[in-house]
Amino acid sequence: MTDVVAIEGLTKRYGDVTAVQDVSFRVGPGRIVGLLGRNGAGKTTTLRMLLGLVRPTAGRATVFGRPYGELPDAAHRIGVSMDGIGPSNAATGRADLRIWARTLGLGSSRVEEVLERVGLDGDAHRKLRGYSTGMRQRHALATALLADPELLVLDEPANGLDPDGIRWLRQFLRSLADEGRTVLLSSHLLAEVEQTADDIVILQRTLRYSGTAADLTGDGDVSLEDRFFELVGPQSKEHAHG
Ligand code: ATP
Repeated sequence: MTDVVAIEGLTKRYGDVTAVQDVSFRVGPGRIVGLLGRNGAGKTTTLRMLLGLVRPTAGRATVFGRPYGELPDAAHRIGVSMDGIGPSNAATGRADLRIWARTLGLGSSRVEEVLERVGLDGDAHRKLRGYSTGMRQRHALATALLADPELLVLDEPANGLDPDGIRWLRQFLRSLADEGRTVLLSSHLLAEVEQTADDIVILQRTLRYSGTAADLTGDGDVSLEDRFFELVGPQSKEHAHG
């Protein structure tokens, strides 16, 4: 079966800092994949290289068999939630989604569908600046879902969510996978990812693990947290505060 995402020997250097070094992994269709690592481990840089937002120093990343920039219809096939691809705070939730929908060539009925799907239909008349962190995360997911994408790339979707929000997100991600979509999400919430992801990728500048969650934890015999620390090692002093 064709890989949805293939990362091969990916490296990114910023001056003296090597953010990502020789990382390779694959993402299969219909899987929920958790990309794990500490602050500064290279998660966002890896996702940005995958989406053609950062040029790799070496290696290659493809989505559906091609570099993102060469993939026809990439904006429809891949939904993204990531800092910096943010909405205008002055708009209402609904108005912001309508702008995105128009850009994607979609009608406003699709906006209503995604609002309902993320549970924001009752709040979409409000300005985004008044949204809570959890509402912002849902709004970002609604934006990512607009074009009915096959792949979702979500950078830290659980950040700032309360327990209800986290439970909701878990069920939401599972429903996306049940529809045959693939989800690649980054996180440092290990317990959360343990409950959600089928496959795990652990980064600490280099690749530390790529495989099923079940293999990593011996079908739950060892906690993901214990395995994580075995694989990434102790925190170095210079990175102690991210
Ligand atoms: P976090 O969980 O804190 O978001 P992360 O795993 O997403 O971390 P990255 O944001 O990919 O990590 O950063 C990896 C390393 O690359 C860090 O040392 C960071 O300081 C460095 N870095 C990232 N972007 C740049 C940039 N544009 N210029 C210089 N250094 C950068």
